[in-house]
Amino acid sequence: MSRDYSSNDTSFVKFSSASAESEVLARANVNPQRPLVDSICQSTTFVLKDLDSQTTCTYSRVTNPTVEGLEEVLGRLESAPPSVCFSSGLAAETALFLTLLKAGDHVVLSQAIYGGTVRLIREVFSGLGVEHTFVDATRPANIRGAIRPNTRLVFIESPANPTLCLNDIAAISAITRPAGIPLAVDNTFLTPVLQQPLELGADISLYSTTKHIEGHSAALGGAITSRDEKFLERLRWIRKSTGSIQTPQNAWVTLRGLKTLPLRIRQHSRNAAKVANELAGDPRVVTIYYPGLEDFPQKELASRQHLGGHGGVISFELEGGYEAACRFLRNVRLCTLVEHIGSVETLLTHPASMTHADVPRDQLAAAGLTPGLLRLSVGLEDPQDILADLFSAIDAAFDANGHQAAKGGVACPVAV
Ligand code: PLP
Repeated sequence: MSRDYSSNDTSFVKFSSASAESEVLARANVNPQRPLVDSICQSTTFVLKDLDSQTTCTYSRVTNPTVEGLEEVLGRLESAPPSVCFSSGLAAETALFLTLLKAGDHVVLSQAIYGGTVRLIREVFSGLGVEHTFVDATRPANIRGAIRPNTRLVFIESPANPTLCLNDIAAISAITRPAGIPLAVDNTFLTPVLQQPLELGADISLYSTTKHIEGHSAALGGAITSRDEKFLERLRWIRKSTGSIQTPQNAWVTLRGLKTLPLRIRQHSRNAAKVANELAGDPRVVTIYYPGLEDFPQKELASRQHLGGHGGVISFELEGGYEAACRFLRNVRLCTLVEHIGSVETLLTHPASMTHADVPRDQLAAAGLTPGLLRLSVGLEDPQDILADLFSAIDAAFDANGHQAAKGGVACPVAV
C-alpha cells in the first residue's frame, strides 16, 4: 500500500494547535460560510444543474454533507484526508475486508479481538473463500510466521476486547510494510486521542464510533481513516456499492459527541485508573487487566504506545469465577449490565455470554477470556461512587466471613 501522501493538498493537515481539544472544535475555520454547528441534511438526493455538473453530493448513499462534516474532523484527528463513515463498526470492517480481500486471499488477525470480528471472518468471509489465521499478536514474530504468499491484510486490535492485551503497532508495521501488506488497527478502545495508529506505522485505523467517539449510547456508526487516497477511493466505491453509509442523523449525533471526546476519554482514563487500582488491592479480585496498572505485564509498551491515558475499559474476575460474577451482577445499582462500552455511564458486560458468545471456546481460552471474566467500562460518575457500588456488590457476592457465598441461590441474568 502506498504511504506517500505528500501532495500539495493541505486540506487534511492538522491545525497548528495540534491538541485534540482544539481539533474537534475548530471546524468553523475550514469554511467561514459554514454554520458553527452543522445542519442535519436529510435530503436523499441533490439537484444537478446539468449533465456536466461537478458536485461531490449527488445521492446520500454515496455521500452526504452531514456525513462529510464528521469525516473531515475524524480524518484531521489523524493528520489524514477525510475518513470514510459507515452505519456501524461492523459495516466498516465488512467494507474494509471487501476492499482488500477476495476469494483465495488470506488475512492474519490478532486472536484477542472483538467477537463480532471473529464471527465476520469465520462465518461470513470464510464462506466467500477468504482464508484466515488468528495469532497471538502480542509477539510480533507470530505475525511474521503466519504471513503467506497470498496474505493481503493484517488486522489487529489494541488494546484487545476484552482482555486489554496490547499489540506493538510499530513492531508489527516493521514486518508488514516491507512485505507490502496493509496493517489495519481497530482503535475503538483508545480513539485517536489516546493512540495514533497511523503515526505508529499502521496503514488503516478503524473505529466503532458507536463507542467512545459518540460517547452517549445514542448513535451507531463506524469509521475508517487512512492516508492512502487510492485505498480511500476504493473503500468509498465499496460503500456506495453495498449501501453501508452512515445516516445523516447518526453522523450529526456523533459529530456532537466528538466535540467532547478529548475531555471525556481523558476523564474515563483517570476514573478507570482509580477504579483499577482499588480493585487490584482486593484479594477477592483474582485477575485484573488494565494497561495503567503498575504491574501490567506490557507496561513499557503501554507507556510508549498510548498518549497520556489508557482508556476507560478494565476487565476483572472474582474469586469463584462465573458463579461469583452472577451474584455480583445481581447486586450492582449504579453500574449497568449492557452489551456496550464507551458511554458516559459505567457499564458492565459478561463477554463470554454476550459480545464473544459466537467465538469458539478454544479461541476464547487461547485469548485468556475465561467464563468468569467481567468487562467494566468506567463512566464519568464520581469514581468514589463507582467504587462504592462495585464493592458493595462484591461484598454481597461473598459471605460475612469473606468467603464466596453458597452456590445456586441467585439466578444469573445472562446465559453462558
Ligand atoms: N470493534 C470493537 C473493538 C468493538 O468493541 C465493536 C463493538 O462492540 C466493534 C468493532 C463493532 O462495532 P459496532 O457495534 O458499531 O458494529
